[in-house]
Amino acid sequence: MAPKNFIAGEWVNASSGNVDEVIAPATGEVITTVPASDAADIDAAVDAAAEAFQTWSRTTPRERSEMLAQVADAITADLDEIQRIEVENCGKPVSMIEFEMDLTVDNWRFFAGGARFMEGRAAGEYLEDHTSYLRRDPLGVIGSIAPWNYPLNMATWKLGPALAAGNTVVLKPSELTPLSALRLAEITADILPKGVLNVICGQGETAGDALVRHPKVAMVSLTGSVETGKAIARTAAETLKRVHLELGGKAPVLIFDDADVEAAIACIAEMSYYNSGQDCTQPARVLAAPGVYDAFVSGLTEAVGEIATGDPFDAETVMGPLISADQRSRVAAMVRRAVEGGAEVTIGGSEIDGPGYFYTPSVITGPSQEAEIVQREIFGPVVTVQRFSDEAQAVTWANDIDYGLSASVWTSDIGRAMRMTAALQFGCVWVNDHIPIVSEMPHGGFKHSGYGKDMSIYAIEHYTELKHVMIKH
Ligand code: NAD
Repeated sequence: MAPKNFIAGEWVNASSGNVDEVIAPATGEVITTVPASDAADIDAAVDAAAEAFQTWSRTTPRERSEMLAQVADAITADLDEIQRIEVENCGKPVSMIEFEMDLTVDNWRFFAGGARFMEGRAAGEYLEDHTSYLRRDPLGVIGSIAPWNYPLNMATWKLGPALAAGNTVVLKPSELTPLSALRLAEITADILPKGVLNVICGQGETAGDALVRHPKVAMVSLTGSVETGKAIARTAAETLKRVHLELGGKAPVLIFDDADVEAAIACIAEMSYYNSGQDCTQPARVLAAPGVYDAFVSGLTEAVGEIATGDPFDAETVMGPLISADQRSRVAAMVRRAVEGGAEVTIGGSEIDGPGYFYTPSVITGPSQEAEIVQREIFGPVVTVQRFSDEAQAVTWANDIDYGLSASVWTSDIGRAMRMTAALQFGCVWVNDHIPIVSEMPHGGFKHSGYGKDMSIYAIEHYTELKHVMIKH
C-alpha cells in the first residue's frame, strides 16, 4: 500500500487524492507514490500540532527527554530497514550509510539530554523590591522543511531541538526523498503523543509554501538551497515568523606549502565525493600554494580515478548516483561551461550511460576566481583546484564568495592556522581535516549560507522565546 501523510497519529491521503512518484536514483524506477499535499492538508496537520502543543508544552523536561531517548532506541532497533530506505531512495552506498545513521541516533540522544538543560541566565533583584527571572518558553508549532541529501539526518537536526524545547512539529520532507521521514513517524507513533510529530509529503511550492504562510505556525526551519531560503524568508515576513535557514555552501580548502599534502589528498578524495558530492560542507574548491599545486593535482587525480562508482547496494561501491536527472544535467552543464571558460578536466567530466543518474567523479583545474564553477554551489562529485600566489590571495579568494558555511586550512604552522581561522568568514573552519561533525558543536552558515545553528545547545535556544518575569514585593 502506498504511504500516506501522518497527521494526529493517523495515516491519511492528501485531501485532493493527488500523488507524487518517488524515484530510485540508481535505476530511475518508481519506488512508490506519496500524497501530493496542498494547503488543506497543511491546515489539518497544523491544527493537530496546535492541539498537541497544549499538553506537550507542559510536559516536564524529563518526560520529553525520556521520549526522545526512546526515539533514538526505536531508530537503532529499525536500522536495517531505515538504512535500506535511504540507500534505495537516495542512492547512498551501503558502505556509507552507517556513519550517517550513527550521527542521526546520536543527535536524538544529544537532544534528549538537551531537553534538560534549558536555562535563563539571570535571576535577582535589579530594581529595589522587585525580583526578576528569565524563562525559556517553547514557540508553538514549528514548520520543518527538509532537503534530499541526508533526509532523515537533516530532519533530525530540526526535530530534536524543536521537540526538546516543548514545541510540536509539522515536517515536510523533500518531495524526492520522503520515505525515511514516514518511517520515522511509523516507528515513533507509540512513543510521541498524537499530533506532536506530523509528516506531510508534497512539493515545495504547494505544501511547503502553505506551511510557511500558515498563521498558526510560529517558526519555519529550512535546510535547503539559497533560492528556497530567500523565498521562504520573503513569505514568512508576511506573518513575521521566526525563520531558521541552513542553506548552501561552497567550501574552500586552503593547502599551504607546509601542509601534509598526502593527508590532504586522502581527505579530499574521500570527502568531496562522499554522498556524490551532494553535501553542503563538501570540500569543493581547493586553493593550493605554488609549491604543492602540481603534487596535489596529480595525487588527487590518481586517487579520484580509483573511486568505485555503481550500484549503491554493492558493498564495494564508494559513490552512487546523483539524486535526479535534473541534478545530473545541472552538474554536467556547469562542468561544460567551466571547460568553455578555459578550465581543464584532469579526470571525469562526463555522464555515465545506462539507467540511473550517475556522473563520473571529477577534478577541474585552473578555473578563474570569477568562474561560475568557483562561485556557485555545484552539489555534485566535482572539485575545482586553483593555484594561489600567497597567503593574502588565498584568504581573499576563499572569502570572495556569497556562501559562508565551512572551510578548511591545511598547514603545519600553528601561527598560520590561527591567522586563517580568524580571517575566514565561514560558520565552521577545520584545520588539517574537513567534514567531521559532532552533536555538541553548532552547524550553520555566515552570509548567504543562512542564519541560525543546527545541533548543539544553541539550536535549542532558537526554538524558544526568552521571557522576563518581574515580581514586585
Ligand atoms: P531545495 O531548496 O530545493 O529544497 C529544500 C526543501 O524546501 C524541500 O523540502 C522543498 O520541497 C522545499 N521547498 C522548495 N521551495 C519551497 C518554497 N517556495 N516554500 C517552502 N518550501 C519549499 O533544496 P534541496 O535541493 O532539497 O537540497 C539541497 C540544498 O540544501 C543545497 O543547496 C544544500 O547546500 C542545502 N543543504 C544545506 C545544509 C546546511 O546545513 N546548511 C545541509 C544540507 C543541504
